[in-house]
Amino acid sequence: MYDDDNIFAKILRGEIPCKKVYEDSHVLAFDDINPQAPVHTLVIPKGKYVSMQDFAEKASEAEITALTRAVGKVAEIKGIKDSGFRILANAGGDAHQEVPHLHIHVFGGRPLGPMLVRK
Ligand code: 5GP
Repeated sequence: MYDDDNIFAKILRGEIPCKKVYEDSHVLAFDDINPQAPVHTLVIPKGKYVSMQDFAEKASEAEITALTRAVGKVAEIKGIKDSGFRILANAGGDAHQEVPHLHIHVFGGRPLGPMLVRK
């Protein structure tokens, strides 16, 4: 079930501020409040989707296209399309998803190291 009180729902409703990077009718992108790289931007659908799993099952083709294209636009706006970047979307408990509204992290601006911490 989607929680209308999650922090990104509040950002989408304009109830709390964000540093906007890009917006269109289906997508909002804004800088992460606690950046883990020189560029750390979150790309979210405006629709009420908990996770990538939920989005993959229920989103329209227009929403899926818009989210994908927005990642490319963010890379261009942030000046990391040529230097390289990493995208990541945590889903559920094992991935430690904190905010239950689908968000794609876009990291860049420095060498990003290994993909996962090794145990
Ligand atoms: P997750 O662990 O769910 O993949 O990532 C949640 C992300 O949301 C974290 O990187 C965290 O810093 C970010 N975040 C949490 N609350 C806020 C907020 O109020 N504003 C912004 N811009 N980012 C937030």
